[in-house]
Amino acid sequence: MNSFLKTGRSFVSHFYCSRTRSFRSPLRPKTIESSDTSDSSLKPSSVTEPTSPKKSLDLSADVLRDEWQQIIFHHTATPRTSKFNVEWCRSLHVDQRGWSDIGYHLYIEHDGSISKGRPLNRIGAHCSSKNYEAIGIAVCGGMLADGSYGITLTEEQKEAMKECVAELRRCTGKQLPVSGHRDHKSTLCPLFEVKDIFDE
Ligand SMILES: [Zn+2]
Repeated sequence: MNSFLKTGRSFVSHFYCSRTRSFRSPLRPKTIESSDTSDSSLKPSSVTEPTSPKKSLDLSADVLRDEWQQIIFHHTATPRTSKFNVEWCRSLHVDQRGWSDIGYHLYIEHDGSISKGRPLNRIGAHCSSKNYEAIGIAVCGGMLADGSYGITLTEEQKEAMKECVAELRRCTGKQLPVSGHRDHKSTLCPLFEVKDIFDE
């Protein structure tokens, strides 16, 4: 059973956005972790999109690394449907790629709800040159109904992106500049321009 938690405001907080200076994970990656979830073999899903209540992000009980300096967004290169949720992504990274955990710290679902991925006191696996300092957030989508790649971002997902950034800035006390994976390497991930969303 996966250990991820859907976000909510029901946590009893023992750490108020705690940060740690020298956290050392007891887990070791089984293989080198790199790249994102892009998989050209994925086919569009016929899964319909159920409506589920959107929950607010509350990281008050989470321990954050002091080294976080920025936030990098990704897309999942999948149809924006409920099938490709955080559990699907964790399974892809852990069961298929042999990583220690999902590569992203936060995951914005097809309906704009936010799920927690890899704990924020651990270095992620999403942007090889920036993993040490960058929090990774994946946004479900990036593939159109016909199987071609395209922008599928919705207003709900944009709001969730802003909510993630606001909460991370609150918890770290830092401005944490935002960017897309494609701003750091030659990739189409994500297809949308991150800075445009935050300049709206
Ligand atoms: Zn990416």
